[in-house]
Amino acid sequence: MPELPEVETTRRGVAPHIERQKVTGVSIYDHRLRWPVPADLGLRLVGKTVDRVERRSKYLLFRIADDTLVVHLGMSGSLRAFAKPPPREKHDHVDISFENGVVLRFRDPRRFGSILWVEGQGADHPLLMRLGPEPLTPGFDAAYLHRSTRRRGASIKVSLMDNRLVVGVGNIYANESLFRAGIRPTRAANRISHARLVRLVAAVRDTLSDAIAKGGSSLRDYVASDGEHGSFQLGYFVYGREGEPCRVCATPIRSLRQGGRATFYCPRCQT
Ligand SMILES: [Zn+2]
Repeated sequence: MPELPEVETTRRGVAPHIERQKVTGVSIYDHRLRWPVPADLGLRLVGKTVDRVERRSKYLLFRIADDTLVVHLGMSGSLRAFAKPPPREKHDHVDISFENGVVLRFRDPRRFGSILWVEGQGADHPLLMRLGPEPLTPGFDAAYLHRSTRRRGASIKVSLMDNRLVVGVGNIYANESLFRAGIRPTRAANRISHARLVRLVAAVRDTLSDAIAKGGSSLRDYVASDGEHGSFQLGYFVYGREGEPCRVCATPIRSLRQGGRATFYCPRCQT
């Protein structure tokens, strides 16, 4: 599933090609995404200029005059900017063409992604309104995390993956961040000291930043917007490594399930 680093990588990949460009055409080949693609998308977009491409959590926000095109990649979506688009393939659902000749193509084999038109900036849209701070912004710090976890008896891993606490820390990055911070994923969030949360915030930031720098990837059919496969999966400390030796202390990595998701940790390095 594309996580925050993949979405940010996509944003950085497509933005230079379409920002300040006027839309000249919209082709919807299949409306059936998680929610139907608006039938009037062409009417809304053609002739308008994409001012900026932003990101909030795992949503890409295309700012178009006062309004916003919201794109989510779902489980298997990708968005790529082509100077010369190859022939359309089976899972290519939407093309947006620009005056410079670039075609922005949305592909999504499993069709859990979405393309929505939102009037205004979207801050009060149901999908966006309850989101916590971005992990790479100053609003996410140890003081915030300490304050907002004191009433959370849930485990720190489940808490980290709760978008109301902080957005965009998916399963892979929660596992990796907790390893880097030396914190056992099953530890209750409200039992973790401020000092340890300082390390956790740094670990979350470092883990996500490293993934973005490497063009992060968490799904084998995810393709970065320039066509290169991400390579971050080669460097996991614990994710997917049950029974393999810890890269720090050589103790076998253990696995369990929390909130329906796979957790991996080193029983020696993480307490
Ligand atoms: Zn270890």
